[in-house]
Formats: sequence, C-alpha cells, structure tokens
Amino acid sequence: MTSVRDGAEALGRARRIVVKIGSALLVDAETGLKADWLRSLGADVAALRREGREVLLVSSGAIALGRAILKLPHGALKLEESQAAAAVGQIALSRAYSEALAAHAIEAGQILLTLGDTEERRRYLNARATIGTLLQFGAVPVINENDTVATAEIRYGDNDRLAARVATMMSADLLVLLSDIDGLYTAPPAGNPDARHIPLVEAITPAIEAMAGGAASLFSRGGMKTKVDAGKIATAAGTSMVITAGNRMNPLAAIASGERATLFLASADPVRSRKRWIAGHLDANGRLTVDAGAIAALQSGKSLLAAGVTAVAGDFRRGDTILVVDAGGLEVARGLVAYDASDARIVAGLRSAAIEERLGAGARAAVIHRDDLVMARHGWDDGVGEMRDVG
Ligand code: GLU
Repeated sequence: MTSVRDGAEALGRARRIVVKIGSALLVDAETGLKADWLRSLGADVAALRREGREVLLVSSGAIALGRAILKLPHGALKLEESQAAAAVGQIALSRAYSEALAAHAIEAGQILLTLGDTEERRRYLNARATIGTLLQFGAVPVINENDTVATAEIRYGDNDRLAARVATMMSADLLVLLSDIDGLYTAPPAGNPDARHIPLVEAITPAIEAMAGGAASLFSRGGMKTKVDAGKIATAAGTSMVITAGNRMNPLAAIASGERATLFLASADPVRSRKRWIAGHLDANGRLTVDAGAIAALQSGKSLLAAGVTAVAGDFRRGDTILVVDAGGLEVARGLVAYDASDARIVAGLRSAAIEERLGAGARAAVIHRDDLVMARHGWDDGVGEMRDVG
C-alpha cells in the first residue's frame, strides 16, 4: 500500500477492514439508539461486502445505551453501575447491529473480549481462530470489550486501542476510527483557530504525538491521544489507520468519496516487526523435528504442515513458542504452535484427511501458521540478537 496517499485510496484497496464506532455516534443520552445512523452504517457495510471486502465492527456504546435505557441520572457512575448498565446496553446494542445487518441479509456475530484475550498468546490464538471462522461463515463480527466483567486493572478502557489490537490480531489492511473529529490537527482545533488538519501521517513521530496532546489534556481517554496510540499499535503491525468524522450518515461511503480524514500509513516492513515480536518476546517450550520437504516449504514462505513433522519434543500448549529443527537438531525456525504437545504427537506425519479422522473436522492442517513463524537464518540482522535454544 506504499503508493496510497489518502483515506479514500486506503479504503479502496483494503480487503479486510476493522471499523471502530464510538459511543457518541450511536447513542443519544436522551433518546437512546440512533437507529437511522446505524441503518446507514449497515448499508455501508453491505456495500463493502458486495465488493468482496471483509468487515469487522468494534462498537462502543454498551454503557451509554444501558444508562439511557435504565434512565440513570447524568454524572459519573460507580464501577458496578457502569457494568450493570453495560449488561443492559450490550444486549440492545447487539440486537440493533443484528437488525441493521439483517436488512442486507448479513449475519452479525457478537464477540466480547477482555484484555487477556488479546494479551495472552493462547487466548489470542483462540480469539483469532473464532473471529476468523466467523468471517469464513460470511458473518460480520461485532466486537466490544466485555464491560460487565472487566475491572479497572484488566481493561483496555478505550475501544480505540481494543480496535487496534483486533485489527492487528486479524491482520486487517485498514482500521477506520469513526470519531467526533475528522482527523488529526496540529493542535486541538477547539480553541486553536490556527490548527491545521493533517491528511497523511507517514510515521508517528514525537511531533505527531505532541499534536495529539498529552494524557493530562482534555483529549485523553477516548480522545486523540488514544487514537494515536491505536495508530502506533496498528501501523507497527502493518495495518493502516484512518480517522474520520463518523457523525454523518453513511460514514464509510463518505471516506470513499474523499471527505476529510487522516490516514496513518502502515509501517513499510510490517512482517519483520511481527516476526521480531515473535522472536524477541517469547521463550521456546518445545521442538518439532521436520523433514527436508517441510524445510523447503518453510523456506518458500509456507506454513508448517503436520505431514512434515517427524518428532515432537517437550510439553507445550497451543500458542506457545516452539523451535522447528532439522534431522540434525539445527534450528530452522521458531513460531507459535497451533496444537498442544499431545495433539501434535497425534498429528505428526499425518496429512490433512488423516488429521480430520483423528481429531475431527476443522482440525488445523498447519502446525505452525506461516504468519506465526520466523525463519532462523533470515531477518536476524536487525538488532534482534541471538535466538536462544531451549536446551
Ligand atoms: N466498551 C465501552 C462501551 O461499550 C466503551 C469504551 C470506549 O468508549 O472507548 O460502552
């Protein structure tokens, strides 16, 4: 996407798109759900889907909608009050999305995440598999934080960063933040008549972060700062991000027709950053010995299939980092394994059909997916340091 210069082009090219919807767009404190707006969003989603694109929605609004439905007084809520409000609001929110998409014969699937679901590897892989399957079924995932159980210490807290985590988890091409502001300005535009709009951010430098305001400004929580933080998460992992105003009808069509927005370009070398993450942060818990055919497949960028595995060592669980070694024990690659050790022992050497026979339909053929795999002898010249062995 290197030649992409604005939000319209980025949207035009994206195959998998995560759209974050802020509470204020969806919910009016007095009248509740903004059903007309949601219908227009549903039409936009349907239009993208007709073009063959995948869309995932990360929607806020559970607490705001719940408090409107329960007619709670204005002002701050206690934690358990906002959690109870979210319980009421989320069910209404899901129904509203389900209806808005059903109007276009699209099914919605609700996913409620807590912080651990994206931060712990095993749960991360699990969440990714579920959301991926939902997309394969042709449904639109509608995702929110599980506010009813998430307390302060274990919360994302804002859906900007949650949406960025979802976008990177699902390797989305584009994250769209629908906001109450049409992008990044050189200074908060309210009260700064000289503030200029920035249409394109090629890299999030300290100067860009300064424009978003520090944590202590009015722009914290859910403001421009969390949006730029989301941009850092997304762009580092290879997902571009667009911030635009969502408070108009058909907000996604508006991006396509060139309404004002800020595009944050994805890092030019995202695969390397992701591989760096795999290599740099995790310890290996086991090893798979593979045959020459599997090594050749890995070298050409393919996933590691069970058929090429000749031996399994160690006690690991799905999502753990393990080493891939050749017959002589030399490390070929490392990656996040898709099977527990016991199942890996069952599938080792088997082809896909035999795997399904042993573990049931839907069992994965890839023991390590290529997105989760780092080759040992490539890309290590960027300051990552030596790979450690498990001994
Ligand atoms: N998860 C919260 C809700 O649905 C919103 C968080 C946010 O506004 O960023 O009410």
